[in-house]
Amino acid sequence: MWLDLAGVSASIDARPIVTDVHLTAGPGEFVALIGPNGSGKSTLLRTVYRSLRPSAGVIRLDGLDLWGMRPRQAARQRAVLPQHGQGGEGFSVAEVVATGRHARKRPLERDGAADRAAVATALDRVGMGWAADRLITTLSGGERQRVLLARALAQEAPLLVLDEPTNHLDVGSQLLLLDLIRSLGLTLLAALHDLDHAASYADHVVVLRDGRVAGHGPPLKVLTPAFIEEVFGVRAHVGPHPITGRPHIAVASQNPAERNG
Ligand code: ADP
Ligand code: MG
Repeated sequence: MWLDLAGVSASIDARPIVTDVHLTAGPGEFVALIGPNGSGKSTLLRTVYRSLRPSAGVIRLDGLDLWGMRPRQAARQRAVLPQHGQGGEGFSVAEVVATGRHARKRPLERDGAADRAAVATALDRVGMGWAADRLITTLSGGERQRVLLARALAQEAPLLVLDEPTNHLDVGSQLLLLDLIRSLGLTLLAALHDLDHAASYADHVVVLRDGRVAGHGPPLKVLTPAFIEEVFGVRAHVGPHPITGRPHIAVASQNPAERNG
């Protein structure tokens, strides 16, 4: 699926938060949205998952105006993995994942064999099939985030929008989730806060600063040390990763305290 944002602006309480953003993600492409806290990443994503109507510009999915669609039609096009995996108290993992099927059914339609199969497939894809009958509140943060990813997959939408999906996860769970997301073959738009993750996983980065696009393109073309210093106010170094040999972004404070050994 093609996602295309053309001149998108968004305001909250009449205050402009995001201004004139252009962005394209092609089928199977991973576009990472990065930028300092408060730069407007979540606000921009809200316009794509339809919780905030743009004040200007247009968002197209395969050429169709997202905000012109009926809610159910839009829900079949794009799924969302939110920032904090909260909610679902009292529900089993399978029940939570089954809510991802709502967009694909008529109102109040019961779960059928196709729904149960989609739930099982989605849980298997994220390696959580073993937990189908567990209460979601009994899972670790990383496991819960994979279940919420399964819920998004059960929706069978070709575009997946993610807002800092690895927040609060330990390093192993972060990489597991990113590997999983990358392997899905979906069009991906994800706000990421880790520059090295963006560089390793994304095909394209779009950098927001004060709600405007400050840079965009292939990660290593955009994320030069000078650019990182300008936007994030940290020193940066790009060099081969000591384990994988792939380009790696290391950052350091501009005013490090003197430390010896
Ligand atoms: P990011 O996700 O990049 O950290 P946000 O999109 O959350 O940035 O926030 C961008 C700006 O919009 C911030 O100044 C923030 O305070 C403001 N903002 C975000 N959501 C709201 C809201 N619901 N009400 C008022 N201001 C908001
Ligand atoms: Mg945010």
